Amino acid sequence: MYDEPSIHDVTAEEAPRRRPRSRRAAAVAALAAAALFIAACEKPPYQIVFPVAGTSNYSDTFGAPRGSSTHEGQDIFGAKGQPLIAAADGTITWMRWGTGVRSGNLLQLTDDTGWYYYYIHLNNDTPGTDDGANRYDQAFADGISIGQRVKAGEVIGYLGDSGDAELTTPHLHFEIHKPGGAVINPYGALLEARRFERTPEQRVAASPAGAAEAFVLNPDGTVRITGWAIDAVRNDPVRVSAYIGGNLIATSTAGFERTDLAPRGRGTRHGYTFASVGARGGGPVPKGAEMCVVAHSIEGGGSARIGCSTAPK
Ligand SMILES: [Zn+2]
Repeated sequence: MYDEPSIHDVTAEEAPRRRPRSRRAAAVAALAAAALFIAACEKPPYQIVFPVAGTSNYSDTFGAPRGSSTHEGQDIFGAKGQPLIAAADGTITWMRWGTGVRSGNLLQLTDDTGWYYYYIHLNNDTPGTDDGANRYDQAFADGISIGQRVKAGEVIGYLGDSGDAELTTPHLHFEIHKPGGAVINPYGALLEARRFERTPEQRVAASPAGAAEAFVLNPDGTVRITGWAIDAVRNDPVRVSAYIGGNLIATSTAGFERTDLAPRGRGTRHGYTFASVGARGGGPVPKGAEMCVVAHSIEGGGSARIGCSTAPK
């Protein structure tokens, strides 16, 4: 669904590997370690929020050998499904929903000054299994899609083992890049990160209001969904996404004229229509599938499921 980036590719990540080390290699490693110590002192110009909620552990493996390259991030080990947290206010600038590549499910968060963060190996399994079902809403938090603004401390995804982490302990591979692209060792920033997760009350207060008023089956087995959505703060049209069976299938904007919404005092251009939403990869909606609409907050902080229904069996 999401394409590879054209300007910069994400750092390739490979499972840890042990290799015999020569004396020369040891000397090179010592020099590299000294350079890394200096690199570890580099940090974004603000305190980041720790990217994993709850109990986790990590040690400094930046620069460790990974096949033909070196480890360009830190691996933060935890349990599958543990919430991943936005390290800073910013925008989701790239995502991959797909596990056929080494880094698996991933997202890129870019702050307003150009520093960016990669979150790699997001969850691809049904809770309690290793089935690789890769439901969108079990990898990424509701409302997370390219272009979405998020606030520091907001849940943006879930820890997992997708990509070549399948054979390792579930972990988040976390990278920090400077504006322009140079990677830094995130270790120092992680040590000094604050632990913070926005509360459910904060999320609800930032979430749009709205409804999915009608789910109508089309002759071809897809569904037409109509409704409305209004941002919690602004009167501009908000983005809405249709989820079928937990997978984000289509994104639209709630900007159609709806004069019946005038009494709310927030303007009338808040209606939306999904004309034809089907299964992941196309075709009719699967029988009995859960169908939901998520409304995205414009400034970040929380998105809401504004209506759900179940496809006929
Ligand atoms: Zn890693």
